[in-house]
Amino acid sequence: MIRYAAISKITAAALLAAALGGCAVELPGSASAPKSPAASNAAEPAPQAQAPAPAHKDAGSGSGGAGSAPAAKPAPAAQAPVQEAPPAQPASAAQDAGAAAKPAPTPATAPTPKPAAAAGAAAAQAGTAPAGSQDRKALSWYYMKKGAGKVPDFPKETRSFPADQKAVWVGTGKKVYLTIDNGGEMGDTELLLKSLRDNKVKANFFISGYNIKKYPEYLKKVVADGHLVANHTMTHRDFNKLTDDEVKQEIADFEKLYKDITGKDVVKYFRFPYGAYNRHLLDVVSGLGYTSVFWSTAMRDWEPREHPDDPLNDILGNLHDGNVILMHQGSKENIEGLDAIIKAVKAKGYEFDTVDHLQAPPR
Ligand SMILES: [Zn+2]
Repeated sequence: MIRYAAISKITAAALLAAALGGCAVELPGSASAPKSPAASNAAEPAPQAQAPAPAHKDAGSGSGGAGSAPAAKPAPAAQAPVQEAPPAQPASAAQDAGAAAKPAPTPATAPTPKPAAAAGAAAAQAGTAPAGSQDRKALSWYYMKKGAGKVPDFPKETRSFPADQKAVWVGTGKKVYLTIDNGGEMGDTELLLKSLRDNKVKANFFISGYNIKKYPEYLKKVVADGHLVANHTMTHRDFNKLTDDEVKQEIADFEKLYKDITGKDVVKYFRFPYGAYNRHLLDVVSGLGYTSVFWSTAMRDWEPREHPDDPLNDILGNLHDGNVILMHQGSKENIEGLDAIIKAVKAKGYEFDTVDHLQAPPR
């Protein structure tokens, strides 16, 4: 399927992101957070020092692809799959970037928009098979955009998830779930929270533990404003590269830190860094009581935007019922465009909600 056609682009995107420093940002130790002052006191005037790239490319980014065609393109609908993280990439860095996955501007070859048939069968099989190694096969979340008003297609693997699998990626009805992912730069946190507050919107924050540790006051403000804060691991690493014990430790460390700072237990919602997961890990996370939250729109925020309206177009071009939007906090343009984005989405008849209210469509 598309994957092959898109690979080279993904790789290119990864390299680009790496060059821009994007990847680094994700990693705990690296250059990530600029100056501490920034985040914690929110007042920061958008840290300029930032690399142009939004850095955090969690997985998500990748995908956004479809939505906003970079340059001039008004996002043709049925494009390549928005892929989060490049499947077989080694380094997390790549993954991220990968995410970027450029929506192959070559729609032609690409997509077989329907991995359906064959894939469906394969998936069904996989589902029934006990499959040891199959369960641990590294997967990267992505979706295939079908255009505004239409719910995208999702990875074939989802078709064989057990009915009670604790994982969501799209809801139903005139609801939109804004998920703000932060495994990297903090950005203008004051403007971010103000835009949400001014519009009476509650969002879903997936903040990595190491950022919470650096900016505990920021976490307190997010919680005080009534947003949902979920577990995004302690160090934001690719879970496919960790042992089960390490995975559990990443999650437990976040829980402890969250409780130490807020005095509350974190709600049991979780996001895999970079959208990198596998079936076995989904079960591990579920076993800890968590619902994994993927997405149905990823903003194309892993690279510099060409126009201030790009973030808005990313969203409007793929707005659909139950839309779970992945937005990276590290993108300056995302934050600056948030107020307009919220107003535009509401004008289309949608209301924002938190993922604990999400009603998934039947699988
Ligand atoms: Zn992340």
